[in-house]
Amino acid sequence: MFKTTLSKLFILLTCWWLSFAALGTSLEGVRIWPSPDNTRVVLDLSKAPKYTYFTLTNPNRIVVDIQGKPQDFNFTKVKNTSPLLKEIRKSSAKKPNTFRLVLELKEATKPIIFSLTPTKPYGDRLVMDLPHSAALSKTKVEISQPSSERDIVIAVDAGHGGDDPGALGKRTYEKNITLTIAKQVAAKINREKGMQAILVRSGDYYINLNKRSEIARKSQADLLVSIHADGFKNPKPRGASVWVLSTRRANSEIGRWIEKHEEQSELLGGAGEVINNTEQDLFLTRTLLDMSMDHSMNTGYGVSVEVLKELGKVTKLHKKRPEHASLAVLKSPDIPSLLVEAGFITNHEEENLLRSKAHQKKIANAVYVGIKRHFENSPPAGTYFAAIAAKSHIVQRGENLSVIAKRYGVTVSQLKRANKLKSDTLRVDQELKIPNS
Ligand SMILES: [Zn+2]
Repeated sequence: MFKTTLSKLFILLTCWWLSFAALGTSLEGVRIWPSPDNTRVVLDLSKAPKYTYFTLTNPNRIVVDIQGKPQDFNFTKVKNTSPLLKEIRKSSAKKPNTFRLVLELKEATKPIIFSLTPTKPYGDRLVMDLPHSAALSKTKVEISQPSSERDIVIAVDAGHGGDDPGALGKRTYEKNITLTIAKQVAAKINREKGMQAILVRSGDYYINLNKRSEIARKSQADLLVSIHADGFKNPKPRGASVWVLSTRRANSEIGRWIEKHEEQSELLGGAGEVINNTEQDLFLTRTLLDMSMDHSMNTGYGVSVEVLKELGKVTKLHKKRPEHASLAVLKSPDIPSLLVEAGFITNHEEENLLRSKAHQKKIANAVYVGIKRHFENSPPAGTYFAAIAAKSHIVQRGENLSVIAKRYGVTVSQLKRANKLKSDTLRVDQELKIPNS
């Protein structure tokens, strides 16, 4: 009896030791996130992977060998809408204690493959970024307009996406709220004559923060507005806020939290090359000190004041003034930028509001009206808005309504309506809006 127990124990221990030694990494999940110009494949692994890979042509493939036990993973259940990746399958590895994955591609690509350490809610991961060729990419931003009366271009950025869910509510991911609101802001802007919106992120995929400003820059955006919803460690804080760039670190607790949240987002989204690129950060810091930042920062601040004013009409405000933080997404020296926190997803009441269609609509409208008002008041030269704004007339001595109407090719009643005039009397130096004929 004693002997059997001992041998059982021995077998148990041996098994335990063997499995431990042979375990290596095991594959626990696969996610495919296609964005317009890149497909990201994320492997969830039981521990940090040791891996090698190579590419093959005819047909185009990427072969990845990961140290660990051969897998019994069902790849057919992985959702795949990538225009580049045909399928992922397992194959037999040449080395022992290794499993092999083969990615079948529609065209050749230069993969960027890197591992990521655990960041909530994910564990160890192997990330494969597969850039699409220009032909396959759908990011062709076409802005063709006569330079005399060009549109004001607004880059609308939905925070987070893909493997980076952003702040977590009880039953909501920030990345989904931000995308819904961003799409609505963009739609409203696109309905406005003289304005055009570019969606920086249009689906559920991650874009690193530098790439977000790069997309805005490529679209020659006059403004980058990044939409977020706050999260905090306790459910108490609530209310919307607007953030603009500060060259110093945030001094409020929430501000530091948001800065940290952004770092976390980079870790989750896994922009390996950006995280390691401290040199570029130094460059940015120096650029920030440059006087050329002034215009961008002033415009960003001007817009944020208007947006806050509008948000205050539809939701509780967390802070009544624009807040300052040192956030990478705001750091493009040439593009005025602001970040809108629509509310706290970690506050139960506000989470429910942020999930409701009616409230999302109100927030989107407030952001749109705020932006529009800023550019109506200070239109950039050469835009349609500038051309409209220029159409005003200062009444000179001896002028009357019909003389002015004739001069601008409008009718007297149009002129009266545009200026809400009750009588025909004008005073000298009075400013009249000239409506479009
Ligand atoms: Zn966020």
